[in-house]
Amino acid sequence: MELTSRQQKIVEIVKDEGPITGESIAEKLNLTRATLRPDLAILTMSGILDARPRVGYFFSGKTTMQAIGESIKNKLVNDYKSVPILVKESSTVYEAICTMFLEDVGTLFVVNDHSHLVGVVSRKDLLRSAIGRQELEVIPVSVIMTRMPNLILTFPDESLHAAATKLIQFQIDALPVVKPLASDSAAQKYEIVGRITKTSITKAYVELGSEEL
Ligand code: ADP
Repeated sequence: MELTSRQQKIVEIVKDEGPITGESIAEKLNLTRATLRPDLAILTMSGILDARPRVGYFFSGKTTMQAIGESIKNKLVNDYKSVPILVKESSTVYEAICTMFLEDVGTLFVVNDHSHLVGVVSRKDLLRSAIGRQELEVIPVSVIMTRMPNLILTFPDESLHAAATKLIQFQIDALPVVKPLASDSAAQKYEIVGRITKTSITKAYVELGSEEL
């Protein structure tokens, strides 16, 4: 973000004299408080200045890059998750292919009769079984899925950045957003509450680019 010359002047004043009130900054620049308001709003929103009621403005010392980094790390999986598309482990590969087309997704999550997460099926898993000329209308998805405990998971309160890192690190397209069901986490029973995909990350990226830093 490039600061206007007036914004740079404000930053210099606050650096030298902060904490300082908006009124005093305005006086020093021979401007009205109202004229300065948009500049002060931009500088505080971008994290360059901090404001405390009845104290005034002070320099936070954050660079724009630090402020952007913080904004990225503050985004949570819970706010970007989309609806998970599920299939039962007894569904056939053929049914899974139909679901993938109908729901327009690239990854399906597989659940057992208790709605617990048991596996993940991707496009390539389905293509692989088609290449193998297996009986798609007979074989259950549970035979071709990637199964627990080998699944890479994310959680509602995890940062979106951590989830994006998992997508890159494990070279996968989607993560199930889960909540542990058993109090004993060793039991590894999870309810699926959402889905994070490369599209979720792209959405957050676009949003970040549109944020007024
Ligand atoms: P595609 O098959 O369309 O390239 P992925 O790259 O996501 O999609 O899948 C590659 C492999 O990783 C597949 O075998 C799939 O079952 C597996 N996989 C996908 N998502 C996960 C996940 N969250 N945890 C573990 N394995 C996964």
